[in-house]
Amino acid sequence: MSRLSQLALVLTFIAAFGAPAPTCGRENETPVLLITIDTLRADRLGCYGARQVRTPAMDALAAQGVRFERALSHVPLTPPSHAVILTGTYPMYTGVREFTSGALPQGVGVIAEAFQRHGYDTAAFVSSAALESSWGFSRGFQLYDDYFNAKQANTGNPQAIERRAEETVRRLLTWLHSRPATGGAGGERPFFVWLHLYDPHYPYDPPEPFRSRYAGRLYDGEIAYVDHQLARLFQDLRQRGLYNRSLIVLLSDHGESLGEHGEDEHGFFIYDSTLHVPLIFKLPSGLVAAPRVIRRPVGLIDVAPTLLALLHLVDPLSRQFQGISLAPELLGKAEPPPRPVYSETFYPHDSFGWSELRGISTDRFKYIQAPRPELYDLRGDPQETHNLCDELPSVAAGLRSQLERLEKVYAAAPRAIRTPLPAETVDKLRSLGYVAYSAPAAIASGEPLADPKDKLQVFQQVVRAQALNEARRPEESNRLLATLVSREPHLFVIPFLQAENFSQLHRWYEAEQSYRACLRLNPHFERALMGLARAYLAEGEPEKARPLLELVVREFPRDIFALYALGRVAQREGNHEQAYRYLLQAAEAMPYIPSFQEELGIALVDLARFQEALGPLLRASQLGQEDARLEHYLGTALANLGRFQEAVQCYQKALKLEPKLAAARLSLAFAYLNLHEPDNARREFQAFCQQSPAQCSRYRKSFE
Ligand SMILES: [Zn+2]
Repeated sequence: MSRLSQLALVLTFIAAFGAPAPTCGRENETPVLLITIDTLRADRLGCYGARQVRTPAMDALAAQGVRFERALSHVPLTPPSHAVILTGTYPMYTGVREFTSGALPQGVGVIAEAFQRHGYDTAAFVSSAALESSWGFSRGFQLYDDYFNAKQANTGNPQAIERRAEETVRRLLTWLHSRPATGGAGGERPFFVWLHLYDPHYPYDPPEPFRSRYAGRLYDGEIAYVDHQLARLFQDLRQRGLYNRSLIVLLSDHGESLGEHGEDEHGFFIYDSTLHVPLIFKLPSGLVAAPRVIRRPVGLIDVAPTLLALLHLVDPLSRQFQGISLAPELLGKAEPPPRPVYSETFYPHDSFGWSELRGISTDRFKYIQAPRPELYDLRGDPQETHNLCDELPSVAAGLRSQLERLEKVYAAAPRAIRTPLPAETVDKLRSLGYVAYSAPAAIASGEPLADPKDKLQVFQQVVRAQALNEARRPEESNRLLATLVSREPHLFVIPFLQAENFSQLHRWYEAEQSYRACLRLNPHFERALMGLARAYLAEGEPEKARPLLELVVREFPRDIFALYALGRVAQREGNHEQAYRYLLQAAEAMPYIPSFQEELGIALVDLARFQEALGPLLRASQLGQEDARLEHYLGTALANLGRFQEAVQCYQKALKLEPKLAAARLSLAFAYLNLHEPDNARREFQAFCQQSPAQCSRYRKSFE
């Protein structure tokens, strides 16, 4: 290509996309890769001393860069911890503390927005529905790849709501390879990419050969597998000359307890088993710093401020930061004064009504504020097994007042307005194994809240009962719950899960009683209101279901399934206009749910709006919906538009799916009549008469 035509091409680019964003110096050309590996304990990496897992790619990254020996998560739950990492603010600031606490409030900035303002291409590739975009994490990302197959997600199959590292890395590389080689000014546009890998999260299910190689310790196998995929990514970056030039940050959102302190996974306690995570910075080739290890404790809240500082990006986002930049220390220039690291979990409180836990870690001690507080000397007792609260009361008191001060300073959050999550997002979290239900705001009779330490067994049994329900083993689930009822009379989630189990067994009367028992403990619990409505519908009492559904729609406007259910109730009552209005709202809010499209189309057929009905009916079919009713209604719409040949095909398909669908048989007979094929018409009509002799005489005249 000649020079002139190259110039013309560049000019065309500028004309098409506008002038390139101003850049403020060479630093801004540094590609940035933020890698968060979910549920990764620091002590499982070779560079953190692990001997039993092979992690050469991550170890090499640490060997070339700076490794933080004692990096701590502030909250051992996936969405709240990522909120901290991406915003540089504490959970008490954003209000993102737990699964049911709502999305990132409007007005809270995400690090990608800062990069975008500085001319970066931004993209995120996440591997779990736990981080889908409704949390608000997608702000500033030009591409937020959280695509999970919606139809499969409805089945509760965990494979459908997470994806393996291999696929996520492949999607990242495809994006990277497809970027235009140059930006508007002729230079390469830098990128900021966030890669989230989910494999070490439960269930532990590594592919071969890691499954065999790590038989009996599959959690380790997942980590080795993730490392293998990272090696593939880093190799690709090297081949493209990007690896050395890039700033790469690798960390985890939280660890995994693996039975320590009696906890299997994470989220319930705040011991180091779930707080201590890897944190590695590989600096770009332009920044000279000797590889080093920093031993003082730091928190993940410092990651976002450090990224901007290392690249000298001056951005308004920094006004919101509650963390500090670690850049001087990373570059070996200065050691900041020691800062205690805050941690919390509100999971026991918000989902169960027990006490929350809040803690503070220094380079020596860890204090946990709880109904029975805890103090550990981490130097002699890194496993946190010997509570020193009684032996060192003044140390405990000092840390407690530091904790209270820190909370007061950072909680002032005028912008932290609760933004509720869509019900389906919370549903997905449940299918990932969390008990994510909102406990009632006021717990019975002002009694002091229970210490999670005393509720561990109950918690584990509730998790197990929910897992059995998800696995469609309702009787086993109920047997387990029966052992808990008398011990935990205030725990609303027990009658709720019992009701869900009875629903699965179609024992509707018992389901109804249990939902009522749950609602007495937690009157505004959306899922119980919906469940009770469902039980009434199943018992053929739509008039009782309707006010409950209307209440849900009023109080939880994001509960799209309540709209859908109201639409179905109206349909059954023959109120087609009302059915259409509800179903339209549901289908517009969640256009990818096939049954919403199907019912909307059917409502339009019922209203004799045949042309309009075709759109949603065909969309339902494209989304994979396969049922006789859909085909029958599609045929009816087409027949009423005079498209009899196509209608015949639909009716035939309906009958193939459900040979006993007499209505489709009759419709097919009439379509043949309209096509002037009397023999076919008579044959189908006779088949209809055999199926439903009572109806036969009504239509006989047309076929004589
Ligand atoms: Zn996580």
